[in-house]
Amino acid sequence: MATLESLVFDNGFARLPEAYYSRVCPTPVPDPYLVCYSPEALALLDLDEGEMTRPELIETLAGNQLLPGMDAIAALYAGHQFGHYVPQLGDGRAILLGEVKNAAGQGWEVQLKGAGRTPYSRGGDGRAVLRSSIREFLCSEAMHALGIPTTRALCIVGSDRPVYREDEETAALVTRLAPSFVRFGSFEVFYYRNQIEPIKQLADYVIARYYPDLKTLADPYPEFLRQVALRTAELMAHWQAVGFSHGVMNTDNMSILGLTLDYGPFGFLDALDPGYVCNHSDTGGRYAFDQQPDVAAWNLTKLAQTLVPLMSVETASQAIGEYPQVFGKSYLERMAAKFGLPPGSEASGLIMDALQLMAQNHVDYTIFLRRLCDFDSREGALNAPLRDLVLDRAAFDAWAARYAAALRQQGSNDAERAAAMRAVNPKYILRNHLAEIAIRRAADERDYGEVNRLHALLMHPFDEQPEFESYAAEPPDWARKIEVSCSS
Ligand code: AMP
Ligand code: MG
Repeated sequence: MATLESLVFDNGFARLPEAYYSRVCPTPVPDPYLVCYSPEALALLDLDEGEMTRPELIETLAGNQLLPGMDAIAALYAGHQFGHYVPQLGDGRAILLGEVKNAAGQGWEVQLKGAGRTPYSRGGDGRAVLRSSIREFLCSEAMHALGIPTTRALCIVGSDRPVYREDEETAALVTRLAPSFVRFGSFEVFYYRNQIEPIKQLADYVIARYYPDLKTLADPYPEFLRQVALRTAELMAHWQAVGFSHGVMNTDNMSILGLTLDYGPFGFLDALDPGYVCNHSDTGGRYAFDQQPDVAAWNLTKLAQTLVPLMSVETASQAIGEYPQVFGKSYLERMAAKFGLPPGSEASGLIMDALQLMAQNHVDYTIFLRRLCDFDSREGALNAPLRDLVLDRAAFDAWAARYAAALRQQGSNDAERAAAMRAVNPKYILRNHLAEIAIRRAADERDYGEVNRLHALLMHPFDEQPEFESYAAEPPDWARKIEVSCSS
């Protein structure tokens, strides 16, 4: 186990030429305090839990001091935001402190989000508020526990320093961990400046560190692009299957490693609504829930474009060409597992019809699938708990009869299927209202108990946790008024 002083730094990104970033120090905040931390994320750095109580660690993760070996930088990137190219974005409030090598040989970049202004702040204050930091912290760790590729969150450090959004709020910093924070936009910035060499050098860097199998290829770039497309397809299959809406799928929020990146106005489905728009600012619904797989495909074309200097247009378009099939196959496999069926055309039909039934009857997506785990496939079984969720009983009965027949025909064993389905249909997700309750307690009462409780609960989303039954319920009426937007 490491202590703060024994952490080993290996700052790969900072060894790239300065074209990719600016060296910048975090701006200190007064009297920082620990809001919450993730023991699971802490373990990625081999840090002993006792370290979390040390003032030196809090000061470091508040951006008030750097440790020997850290090389603080803000990365440059650009991106397509809501379809329009913005030539310079970059880490406007995130500062990479360095990369820690753990005992297992994994490298984890340690980044502070909300660490003050950088050369890329574009008039912003470089800060993050406690509210959005709690959402990012909880969701990063919840997504990981759901088995979805994501950046991680180590902790939140708060400070009473005021931050002005619609109202006055207080500042917080989330310590994020990821193997790399390189985005599609990290490539775009050089392409649109007509700088070919930096594109190649960045691709070489990403390949060498994160796609090492490709290093030996004579021409690794097409395969690199193909693998990014495959990872992105898998990520979209995960999101669609669990009912996660990112909210701001700009190319600068697309990870080159296929990770869920930059949690802002995200939302999980409550009642199934394919056109669900979680971001209050997204008035056109560009990033609606059911648009996400297509948006990712569009974003991949933007990445492919930047690599055209390294390959022909045909090669680039071929490299991302498998995306729709891979997404479709992976999504069907995930959904079939959630329904306890082997993937195939019969499963596909039953899934589509169930989704339609849920959408038409405003049925809670997560609750339906969790209750489906206990489906009784015997002839004539009523399956009342599931049936009660659907207003149109006749339509439900017709679907349930088909589903039961399919299960019987496969010789599916109810008890075994239930156990398998419970491992892929979460009971607990980070519903907006749960985050909201934790945020209010934290912001209004300085009570971080609920954030910690929710974090602990969401680390085991597939387990029955009877004492937390109410956390698995549909949102209360007041939750409809919650609005989340880009302002964070
Ligand atoms: P996002 O929509 O959060 O992914 O942010 C888009 C861009 O705006 C990124 O370049 C961010 O670094 C930048 N940004 C967001 N909030 C702030 C802020 N408070 N201060 C400076 N830059 C910001
Ligand atoms: Mg972003």
